[in-house]
Amino acid sequence: MTIESNDLQLHTRIAKSGILIKELIAFFRGKCSICGHQRIMHNEFGKCEGVMNKPCNSGCDNFNPE
Ligand SMILES: [Zn+2]
Ligand SMILES: [Zn+2]
Repeated sequence: MTIESNDLQLHTRIAKSGILIKELIAFFRGKCSICGHQRIMHNEFGKCEGVMNKPCNSGCDNFNPE
């Protein structure tokens, strides 16, 4: 299975869930009031993993929307 077909599957699942891609994007662009990074930088537990090669030094372990 190629990465593309995984992408397509996820896209289909998102579409079936009734969530719009633009809503997902807005969700992940939301900023954290603790460290200021976007939600997408936080892992599934809410802990911030930082941006690119720079780890987050805020000690943020819980995403908190602004
Ligand atoms: Zn952070
Ligand atoms: Zn944070």
